[in-house]
Amino acid sequence: MSGKAIFLDRDGVLIENSDHYYIWKQEQIRFVDGVFDNLKCLLLKGYQLFIISNQGGISKGLYSKDDILNLHAALLQTFRNFQIEITEIVFCPHHPEIEKCICRKPDSLMIEKLFSKYKLSKEESYLIGDSKSDMEAAQKAGIQKIKINSNQNMYPFISFLIG
Ligand SMILES: [Mg+2]
Ligand SMILES: [Zn+2]
Repeated sequence: MSGKAIFLDRDGVLIENSDHYYIWKQEQIRFVDGVFDNLKCLLLKGYQLFIISNQGGISKGLYSKDDILNLHAALLQTFRNFQIEITEIVFCPHHPEIEKCICRKPDSLMIEKLFSKYKLSKEESYLIGDSKSDMEAAQKAGIQKIKINSNQNMYPFISFLIG
């Protein structure tokens, strides 16, 4: 147990989702205000960054797993261009109306897997999300949680972390 981590929800936290509920194409990407500065500050404070996202649109057949993998590769590259290293993006492709699973938030399997893979410290890690299911997933995983306003700069909610 060593590293400390920030688990970020994707839609409404990093990417604007006020226009689209499902986001799977690069041209749909609009970053929420302040994302690059905020993530850079979190990295400087020693947090590893992860993105955890429910992508039930895959189960529903609205887009494919490859669409999401391609989008995420582009996202990682964009962040890298701003000197922001995201350690990993994980997503749940299931939708409860189609297939039940134990990874979709509010369940915590996505978080738990990353904890064992990267030997992270639960006491020092946080989940930043904009929905109730994010908060429940953090609770189940036993980590701290920060609820922000959807599609708004998260700075006021995380200023205590980055000072
Ligand atoms: Mg969200
Ligand atoms: Zn799942």
